[in-house]
Amino acid sequence: MTTSDTIPTHALDIEKIRKDFPILQTKVYGKPLVYFDNAATTQKPLPVLKSLEEYYKTYNSNVHRGVHFLSQQATDAYEQARKKVAAYINAAYDHEIIFTKGTTNSINLVASSFGRTFLTSGDEVLISGMEHHSNIVPWQLICEQRNASLKVIPVDDNGELIMDAFEKLLTDKVKIVAVTYVSNTLGTVNPVRDIIGRAHAKNIPVLLDAAQAIQHMPVDVQELDVDFIAFSSHKMYGPTGIGILYGKENWLNEIPPYEGGGDMIKNVTFAKTTYNELPFKFEAGTPDMSGAIALGAAIDYIQQTGINNMQHAEEELIAYAYDKLSAIPSLRFIGNAKHRAGAISFLVGNIHPFDMGEILDKQGIAVRTGHHCTQPLMERFNIPGTVRASFSVYNTREEVDELIKGIAKAKKMLE
Ligand code: PLP
Repeated sequence: MTTSDTIPTHALDIEKIRKDFPILQTKVYGKPLVYFDNAATTQKPLPVLKSLEEYYKTYNSNVHRGVHFLSQQATDAYEQARKKVAAYINAAYDHEIIFTKGTTNSINLVASSFGRTFLTSGDEVLISGMEHHSNIVPWQLICEQRNASLKVIPVDDNGELIMDAFEKLLTDKVKIVAVTYVSNTLGTVNPVRDIIGRAHAKNIPVLLDAAQAIQHMPVDVQELDVDFIAFSSHKMYGPTGIGILYGKENWLNEIPPYEGGGDMIKNVTFAKTTYNELPFKFEAGTPDMSGAIALGAAIDYIQQTGINNMQHAEEELIAYAYDKLSAIPSLRFIGNAKHRAGAISFLVGNIHPFDMGEILDKQGIAVRTGHHCTQPLMERFNIPGTVRASFSVYNTREEVDELIKGIAKAKKMLE
């Protein structure tokens, strides 16, 4: 734990933090931008922007292949970034960190490589009813290929997983459990320790989709004892196009490469190819070097701010927003989980979420509307979509007040 982790929440100077994010000065239709679409992607602080610029200005070069100075500098920085990710999630080994394109890519890798090795006819993959399409479709694809079936842990009216049903679904047929840590639509924080504990009691591995957890709370893979986790840089203040798959060493050794190409090989002949060691076995082709290095800068930024401080500040802001939104007549929340992070979803009277989104947009307020890539969850609640406000460390109470005013305006115009 760093010293900054022990500072109480109020010690975070949000106005100072906001100055690190140049985009927050943007005006939208002449109004100050209020950015509440952080679950889709977060904004980027200056050190991340500077890292990208510095990379291309001073040491752009391909990694792992050159003996020349720049290539070694780029390789060192790229591998240093891997170390930062490993330290951030407390991985036992740096080689358990695989650079991918993002959460979607990471989950496809596991679904394909694990599925080809361990799924056979009649087996089951267990996911939940609140998964993002990224943690549904890759499993459907592999289940179809392997003649296996997809089973789903149901969600209750509060937007929480029904754990009794989970217990019943967790039979010997299940070969892997893949669930989200935090719901991108409802903000529900799932009881992942319990899920992992129960699955491991039956020797079933667990993949966590941590796309909406990694930027809001400390994630310690050894403490969780999780087998695989996936997340995206762009949702944790880093650049787009890069993400992480963490896998326990033994699992990564047991599953085959996902893609073939340069860097992932030890020796190639037309008769047979042998694969490189971890983590390179899973990193075919030229990686997103600048992205990985800038993700390292994003992690430095989070570490300096203190993830515990950020979590407390965000929890306070969400509680404030929840309170204010509750006072709006005809507003109903979609999802009322006891533990939540990041996002609040709601509907107001009969106002269509798109109409609400458009009116808020005209006031400079960016929220997301629609199904949020969770169509089965929308079906569960029998709604076409929601309005989702999602929060980050740089959001303020004043911005929440603007949202409340915006909703009041939309109500006046549309109800
Ligand atoms: N899983 C969850 C819970 C998400 O919220 C998202 C993105 O919104 C994804 C997966 C997919 O992430 P990406 O598009 O960065 O691959």
